[in-house]
Amino acid sequence: LADLRTAGVIGAGPAGLIAAEVLSAAGVAVTVFEHRRSPANKFVLAGRGGLNITNSEPLDQFLDRYGPDRSFVEPAIRAWPPDRVQAWIADLGEPAFVGSSGRVFPASMRAVPLLRAWLARLAAAGVSLETSTRWVGFGEGDNRSPVATGGIAQSFVSVGEGASEARRTEVRDVWLFALGGASWPRVGADGSWFTTFEEAGIEVVPIEPSNCGACVQWTPLMLERFEGAPIKNVAVSARHRGSPNRGWVRGDLIITREGLEGGPVYAQSRSLRQQARAGDEGQLLLDLQPDLTVDAVQERLRQRRSGATVTSWLRGAGLSPVKIALLREATDNKLSNDAGAMASLIKSCEISVTSLAPVDRAISTAGGVTQSAVDERFMLRRRPGVFVAGEMLDWDAPTGGYLLQACLSMGVAAATGMTDFVATR
Ligand SMILES: Cc1cc2nc3c(=O)[nH]c(=O)nc-3n(C[C@H](O)[C@H](O)[C@H](O)COP(=O)(O)OP(=O)(O)OC[C@H]3O[C@@H](n4cnc5c(N)ncnc54)[C@H](O)[C@@H]3O)c2cc1C
Repeated sequence: LADLRTAGVIGAGPAGLIAAEVLSAAGVAVTVFEHRRSPANKFVLAGRGGLNITNSEPLDQFLDRYGPDRSFVEPAIRAWPPDRVQAWIADLGEPAFVGSSGRVFPASMRAVPLLRAWLARLAAAGVSLETSTRWVGFGEGDNRSPVATGGIAQSFVSVGEGASEARRTEVRDVWLFALGGASWPRVGADGSWFTTFEEAGIEVVPIEPSNCGACVQWTPLMLERFEGAPIKNVAVSARHRGSPNRGWVRGDLIITREGLEGGPVYAQSRSLRQQARAGDEGQLLLDLQPDLTVDAVQERLRQRRSGATVTSWLRGAGLSPVKIALLREATDNKLSNDAGAMASLIKSCEISVTSLAPVDRAISTAGGVTQSAVDERFMLRRRPGVFVAGEMLDWDAPTGGYLLQACLSMGVAAATGMTDFVATR
């Protein structure tokens, strides 16, 4: 430990800041470089809708939420688990509030009070924060400034009004990249690191939207009547060719001009990306009466009044106008009069998806630096002493507190890895 004197952290999001906290507590002189004028803008944005920082469900169930990425994130999360996050926010003056489905929030629900206390603590610990400073490349080969021996160099430019365009090189014993993914680029993480990493021979896979809406080509009539309308209490799944449906996710949706938004659709992002990769037509299945079995729905439908139109028949069976409109969209307006066929349709209404919503409106992204490009300490195999954490790595998780938890745990693990690396060098 005594060997590690200086560390540079690039990216002042949750992954970078928590790493800075751990490093400074280990006695390391840490500088955090951030290209925006202020740190952690996405963290602040996340707090606007209630900062869901982790989840209180049993750890094994929690880890299962990462699906095929569980084994990648598990050691870091076990080492700095959800209850550590709860203790950490409490220590920053924001005791945990546990909401529905175990979602954990800071008491104020927002990110700003927590961030303020966090930044004050980092400053008191001596962490220096250089904002308006953009990382532009790995430092080697830059002859404009002398590179000290024994350290690793990175290149930066100052950004903002009147800033000089000259590159400057910073040298530290070890570095952590925590540049985030590419969603909501205007708050900071714009994925511009991707090409530089690729050109340096670091294995990356394309960045794709996750936890985002699905684009649907609605008929003009549907949009005219239902754009902006909520669809209450549905369950959503995404079918794969030749494989059983993945889990149904329940909640509410909204019809938008572009398609469908809402938690249950966001949760299908991974499946929709897989469908697209396999060349399949994107498809969502909507269960419009998730509280009833198919037999119970059929039973209700059998109670049709004589002479009732299809619409009043379906209204009588408990379907809202927007749900009836969805059934019409799914069948090209050719609704069956058969109770059995209608019950199956209500329980499994297929909506064709043209694509996922664009990455700039997604809550998170998948893709980036591959899992195999880093070792178990989150160090780049091709660049000893250079670590990566957070959303710029290729893993995915649903909303519910799993994104921030993994970013924080990885930041802690990478910081621990940085001190270990120097100690065992
Ligand atoms: C609307 C919204 C709501 C969300 N709500 C939640 C939620 O409730 N719960 C949850 O778990 N997750 C939520 N998330 C996701 C969560 O905010 C992110 O997963 C998390 O912030 C990623 O952390 P990170 O540190 O890896 O990257 P980021 O937070 O993106 O931080 C990366 C930092 O690097 C900086 N940077 C980028 N490029 C450069 C460069 N070249 N030079 C210098 N600095 C650079 C960026 O400006 C940024 O400050 C939400 C996201 C959005 C968009």
